[in-house]
Amino acid sequence: SLSVGIVGLPNVGKSTLFNAITESAKAQAANYPFCTIEPNVGVVEVPDRRLYEIARLERSKKITPTFIEFVDIAGLVRNASQGEGLGNQFLAHIREVDAIAMVLRCFEDPDIVHIEGSVDPVRDAQIIDLELIAKDLETVSKRLEKVEKMARIGDKKAKEELEKLSMLREILEGMEPVRRRELAQDVREYAERVLFLLTIKPVLYVANVDEEGLKGNEHLEKVMGYARNEKAPVVAICAKLEAELVSLPAQDRKELLLAYGLEEPGLNRLVREAYKLLGLITFFTAGEKEARAWTIKRGTKAPQAAGKIHSDFERGFIAAEVINYEDYIKVGSISKAKEMGLVRLEGRDYQIKDGDIVYFRFNV
Ligand code: GDP
Repeated sequence: SLSVGIVGLPNVGKSTLFNAITESAKAQAANYPFCTIEPNVGVVEVPDRRLYEIARLERSKKITPTFIEFVDIAGLVRNASQGEGLGNQFLAHIREVDAIAMVLRCFEDPDIVHIEGSVDPVRDAQIIDLELIAKDLETVSKRLEKVEKMARIGDKKAKEELEKLSMLREILEGMEPVRRRELAQDVREYAERVLFLLTIKPVLYVANVDEEGLKGNEHLEKVMGYARNEKAPVVAICAKLEAELVSLPAQDRKELLLAYGLEEPGLNRLVREAYKLLGLITFFTAGEKEARAWTIKRGTKAPQAAGKIHSDFERGFIAAEVINYEDYIKVGSISKAKEMGLVRLEGRDYQIKDGDIVYFRFNV
């Protein structure tokens, strides 16, 4: 499943947030189909009311949501790429995640030391990016050395690669994360899949505010301004409150949320934003036995979506019976929707939409 790495300077609230995530994961453990979970990995349900509505209306016996992984990546400090602190082992962990949630301290608390001496989330974000940029520069330079030699002896492919590398180096030498630039498709793929650059991974900023800050504070404002430059999402949460919420029984949780004027835990927003950031959408399958949510990349066509369920479904794909949740919920049942002719028959070129309820027809 897709994973999001939680990074940030020390004392910004990463562990508090991560603990809230794993606690909520434990509560959902019964739902979780995979068994071994590493200590620094928290697997959480992607909250989706639609799935529960579908299950209720179809009287499904079992409900299976989709999940997203959060990985706690500790050890980032200024000059970490030069071996400060725990060294740069953690950079390898960042390489393995699909997106980065950068936790920024946006709360004042004289009792909690800030490693940089003051609360300044934009500076913190820049420190982290500089570490990632330094590592990427190292990656690019090493590769450049090799490829330059190959180009000198007339390797044509090497020359093409050289161009890409020079372009990437220029961006990084300008102290800019690669993700901020519009890149040609081939350069992007090269940076992602050949070099595994860190600064090309999509980022979402988690502004850790105190309880009062949930309505906004000056630090949060600055983070929003900063994030706008790269069109990155910002999720304001209070990690401390999240940790408290997961420890409460459902009724008390509701009351505490209400007291802060919140509709749902910040964790839900975080998960949804991460999901969006990764370009993911959900489709459903539903019947008496089970109502289930499935995750696919936006743009996935019907046969490949079917393949998520079973490779036979993809191989033997004939057609997909589809109704979107918006239409479904007006009618209230799949069988009624069928009677009314609202369930469409789609072929192999159909791109599954978010919220589609799908029944695949296939040959065995
Ligand atoms: P980490 O080093 O980034 O993992 O940070 P921790 O999660 O260990 O948090 C550092 C300290 O800040 C702990 O004492 C937390 O209780 C505290 N903390 C975390 N979030 C908040 C918050 O939203 N408000 C306040 N006042 N303290 C917080």
